[in-house]
Amino acid sequence: MILRSLTSRLIFLYCIILLLLGAAFLAITVISFRHYAGQVITNILAVRTQDVWRVSRDELHRPDILKSLIEKRFSPESQDRFIRIEVDGKTVYRSGEPLNGQFSARDIPPILPLKEGAVLPIGEVMLYAKSFTQPGWPRVIIETGQFQYAQTVEDRLTRSLFIGLPILLLLAAIAGYLVMRRALTPVESMIRAAESFTFNEPHKRLPTTGNEPTIEALGLALNRMLDRLDSAYSHVNRFTSDAAHELRTPLTIIRGELELIARQEDLAPDVDESIRTVLEEMTRLSGLVDNLIALSRMDSLWGKTAHDTVDLLDLALETIDQMHLLLEEKQLTVTKPRGPAVLVPGDRGRLKQVLVNLLANAIKYTAPGGRITIQILAEGMRAVVMVEDTGIGIAPEYQQRVFDRFYRVSPDRGADGAGLGLAIVKSICQAHGGTVSVRSKPSVGSCFVVEVPLSAAGAVSTMESRRFAEGLPSPDLSQTRARAV
Ligand code: ADP
Repeated sequence: MILRSLTSRLIFLYCIILLLLGAAFLAITVISFRHYAGQVITNILAVRTQDVWRVSRDELHRPDILKSLIEKRFSPESQDRFIRIEVDGKTVYRSGEPLNGQFSARDIPPILPLKEGAVLPIGEVMLYAKSFTQPGWPRVIIETGQFQYAQTVEDRLTRSLFIGLPILLLLAAIAGYLVMRRALTPVESMIRAAESFTFNEPHKRLPTTGNEPTIEALGLALNRMLDRLDSAYSHVNRFTSDAAHELRTPLTIIRGELELIARQEDLAPDVDESIRTVLEEMTRLSGLVDNLIALSRMDSLWGKTAHDTVDLLDLALETIDQMHLLLEEKQLTVTKPRGPAVLVPGDRGRLKQVLVNLLANAIKYTAPGGRITIQILAEGMRAVVMVEDTGIGIAPEYQQRVFDRFYRVSPDRGADGAGLGLAIVKSICQAHGGTVSVRSKPSVGSCFVVEVPLSAAGAVSTMESRRFAEGLPSPDLSQTRARAV
């Protein structure tokens, strides 16, 4: 899209430049031609006028001889020429009508006032006039003219350039488009490649070979940048993982020691209270460290997800059973998923973690007495898991950010956590070539939708699964998908 608009913008610019150049060329051509033709015709007519004077000056008083002399010497009728001689304001000779009828000699008016030595367009004729005097004679004005061939040529030239220029522009635009497309094809394939890279393919790079040198250099520069990003990301990931591992052992020891102390019966009530508070925080800290380790493991195992065939329906039922105490504690009603098996290739442990995190959040953020609905179905080539609750919901401006690491909508929403649960869900989904998205309305509820590719066997049961889904209240997936991460 970007390239298409770039191509059209460049071609538009190129056509404008070509149009301006073409117009300048047209103007220069016409002006130079007019100037050159004007000079030529002036010279010709000036010389001819002199000739007419030379031939006629001794016979001006004998019109018949004058006529035959001029016609013999200049043949005006057969050569589209015009000659007029006036003596003392009286015409003593005027050439006849041209044989090809290109102008009417009798209708050509005299140049008044006389413009000596200038060629003027009079009707279809270019007319030149000059006065001559000789002692004892009145003033003689000789006018010579020539049909405006130059004007006809100029008109034709202008017309053909006016017709030719748009054709030239069109051809140039087509040629420009083809050249641009050819030049930008490698950029397009680089964009396609970059967009096809998924989160779990950090080692993929842009195609660069066989491209034009500048584009190849661009591809190589981008690839080097990806290398640097990859190595920086791995570095941060290693650091997080090492730090979390280093913290895990002392935390376990501290927790163990605190649990031992807490079991003592002779503790003063305020000490007992403090130890329990510290123990709670330690448990939260241990959970955080475990989550960090899980995340860094996910990152370092990109693309290496174990490929067992996992039945998501079975996994979801198992997870709900295991979490029944939490559900009962808050008196939440659960609608369990139904239908045929939905099989996906992946890591059972991690997919379970997705379900646990989503269900735990639904429980955490739903008031007692609320409802949680879990649906698992196959749609096209994808398995879809929906965890819907009637909880506090998430305002639209936070819906994208909840999947970021350490992001919590607001700590005062009544539940503790570190903001890593959904980041882990997202990471696991991406590692499985899938997405997670949310659709939510504050005070109404949220629906988290996970989509992962079905296994070949799972795809077969798609139709069957759809029939089951139709029997259930189905959230509008199209809106949720628009925000899939
Ligand atoms: P936390 O440990 O804080 O729950 P998560 O990454 O699991 O971290 O969630 C991030 C934020 O998203 C939470 O702070 C919470 O405000 C919001 N959230 C997650 N699930 C729900 C839900 N089902 N209903 C309402 N808000 C939710």
